[in-house]
Amino acid sequence: MDFISIDNLEVFGNHGVYEEEKKLGQKFLVSARLYLDLKAAGIDDDINESVHYGKVCHLIHDHMKNHSYQLIEAAAEHLAEELLLSYGRVKKVSVEVKKPWAPIGLPLEAVSVAIERAWHDVYISLGSNMGDREAHINTALQAFEEKREIKVGLVSEYVESEPYGGVEQDNFLNAVAKISTFLSPEELLLYLQEIELSENRERTVHWGPRTLDLDIVMYDNLVLDTEQLTIPHTDMQNRDFVLAPLAEIAPCLRHPILNKTVRELLHELDKTYIIN
Ligand code: ATP
Ligand code: MG
Ligand code: MG
Repeated sequence: MDFISIDNLEVFGNHGVYEEEKKLGQKFLVSARLYLDLKAAGIDDDINESVHYGKVCHLIHDHMKNHSYQLIEAAAEHLAEELLLSYGRVKKVSVEVKKPWAPIGLPLEAVSVAIERAWHDVYISLGSNMGDREAHINTALQAFEEKREIKVGLVSEYVESEPYGGVEQDNFLNAVAKISTFLSPEELLLYLQEIELSENRERTVHWGPRTLDLDIVMYDNLVLDTEQLTIPHTDMQNRDFVLAPLAEIAPCLRHPILNKTVRELLHELDKTYIIN
């Protein structure tokens, strides 16, 4: 992808673990790459279709001046976050913070940390079959809106669905939402569980009634299988209440393992239903 690069911007800042470092300050060198599509700016020769690198330099400079971090890891993390939040066109950033005067009692050219952070396209399935089902789903969407690390995109219609998994219970209301986030999958799961808890979600019966269930269906093209998380959601291809709303907002989204689009998966599932 195209990028704008800033190399070794010099800033005098008060970051470090030692008191002297906080008091006296020292030199830092910050490099950043902002990944965005530059074609339109190039064709039209128009700054409004790009990002003003001078302003970016001042943003970095001011951030390094106005904060005092113990760690250059923290400086890099917060800088990356501010860059992603400040420039909507920027999909990904890499930030490197160098500390050439690191007080370690040995000569060295510089110590540095480098990180990469990006907006990720994520699909969340939302479901409820207790209490005011619509209100629970709306609350979750509102909670996404309120989190600065999340931007809400398309949201499907809410669909009525039969319970899944054999437990006798009321019908569900289901939806799928597309979000962009720079939270990691694990951080996102924690936030989803926080929202579920805020709606008094209890885990008593597996696949049983619930006020709110928020599952990560897909996270970019990531394939992940840990104790905590399976992405894509392990059962999405067998669930009409996931595939139908997902097909409404992303019919051409491709399952990274099954190598089929959502539209194809839904079609196959419908066929199975008819045969059975
Ligand atoms: P199912 O995941 O089959 O729809 P469920 O949603 O009822 O079942 P929960 O009780 O909400 O299950 O979650 C159980 C655990 O599933 C969570 O603690 C979480 O660690 C794990 N999990 C694994 N993959 C995912 C995922 N993609 N999204 C959400 N939770 C997941
Ligand atoms: Mg679920
Ligand atoms: Mg769940």
